[in-house]
Amino acid sequence: MAAHQPNRAYSDTLLHIGGAWCTGGRTRPVVNPATEDIIGSVVLAEERELEDAVRAAQHGFAVWRKTAAFERSKLMRQAAHNVRSRAEAIAVAMTMEQGKPLAEARLETLAAADTIEWFAEEARRTYGRVIPARAGGVTQIVTREPVGIVAAFTPWNFPLNQAVRKVSAALAAGCSIILKGPEETPASCAALVQAFVDAGLPEGVLNLVFGVPADVSSYLIAHPAVAKISFTGSTQVGKLLASMAGQHMKRATMELGGHAPAIVFADADLPRAAKLLAAAKFRNAGQVCISPTRFLVEEKACEAFTQHFVAAARALETGDGLHEGVQMGPLANARRVEAMERLVADALAHGAKLALGGHRPERRGFFFEPTVLTGVPLAARVMNEEPFGPIAPIVSFRTCDEVIAEANRLPVGLAAYAYSGAAGTLAALSRDIESGMISLNHHGLGLPETPFGGVKESGYGSEGGTEAMEAYLVTKFVSQMA
Ligand code: NAD
Repeated sequence: MAAHQPNRAYSDTLLHIGGAWCTGGRTRPVVNPATEDIIGSVVLAEERELEDAVRAAQHGFAVWRKTAAFERSKLMRQAAHNVRSRAEAIAVAMTMEQGKPLAEARLETLAAADTIEWFAEEARRTYGRVIPARAGGVTQIVTREPVGIVAAFTPWNFPLNQAVRKVSAALAAGCSIILKGPEETPASCAALVQAFVDAGLPEGVLNLVFGVPADVSSYLIAHPAVAKISFTGSTQVGKLLASMAGQHMKRATMELGGHAPAIVFADADLPRAAKLLAAAKFRNAGQVCISPTRFLVEEKACEAFTQHFVAAARALETGDGLHEGVQMGPLANARRVEAMERLVADALAHGAKLALGGHRPERRGFFFEPTVLTGVPLAARVMNEEPFGPIAPIVSFRTCDEVIAEANRLPVGLAAYAYSGAAGTLAALSRDIESGMISLNHHGLGLPETPFGGVKESGYGSEGGTEAMEAYLVTKFVSQMA
């Protein structure tokens, strides 16, 4: 199999503060998860650089909030163009640092350009309103203003996509932003920032830092100049950051973990459901917050569905994401491989059966086989903790009420999926499942123009659709006597 040849260079990543790329005290290595080779380094910010970033963001906010929405929109569309025209180089760097197949990295990069464009258009639609007054001569106006300086924290699973949603919405609203990118996959974020810099973004509007996550978040969240916190990551860390934001009365958006039920009824097109769900399950080696993770299949169809699903999973080409044809790469880091081993061992100890995979293959890199477990008891950890990896546990159910109860059993509610041929069943599921997003009879979540967010312990706020702008705007009411 041929490796992808052009432009395999991987650059070290610096901090971007006040319009300049700069170094700091320490660096940490960046590892290619497919080879375990060190491919570069990333600079870590200390307090001094973080304070510089806040000052730069203050300067940037003063300029950007006064820049007309029309101009902000134009500049953002140029940034989108820059991302699109550099997509191949960005995708190669993303695959090298994160491990996902090149085809997925290309799609993520092109989707990032779409996201910037969507928010560029939303920038021009931050309307206010006029409220009829009780007294003559009084005008009552509601305006929407940018909330201020944003501190955003984004993870390594979608290095570009997680960052671009926050950056684009904040910039569209007129905010400046300090992005704390993922230390394990820093180059993709740096490429995003460069696209905005080259589009002419004023200094200090978009700053990029890396560091020790807990140190950076405790410094920035507590900083009086920072007005808004946005975090994507685990529920555990989200709760911590949300409580810190609360202590300082900061607005917060929390995009946290889920454990998406994927419900399949016997009247569904089983081969199609199995094929689509397997593609969704093993995308990015399962390291996706909206990945289908609890496969709940009607008892009389369970065996047939499992056969189709196992066949689709077995057919996946796994390997280094730079190799053409590879459909599943390694996990992003060694922690995830260890977590997979623990989850499989625990499920087997609870009486589950291994229908496919279950092991770390004999090769370099953080690989884990596409894994299918059947007959998994609800007490097994994998039915309670988001696996965030290539494990699909399948369990059977008998009635619609029973499966809705199982879907809602956990304290999280981000995404849910269901396949059925009956309109009444689909209506019941869309009404009764406690989840921020539900996709029925296809896989249709995550577009820039559609809401993206969870309920319960999956967090609050939306990162897609018109709702996404809300997080970066505050309301001002002006009442004026002529
Ligand atoms: P982790 O929980 O330590 O880190 C998750 C993310 O949060 C990382 O980006 C990390 O840099 C950040 N983080 C951790 N502590 C922080 C702090 N005090 N302040 C600011 N940021 C902080 O663990 P991990 O091993 O990287 O990932 C483990 C779990 O995290 C996964 O199993 C998954 O459930 C979740 N996760 C979710 C997403 C998502 O898209 N929702 C992405 C990555 C990881």
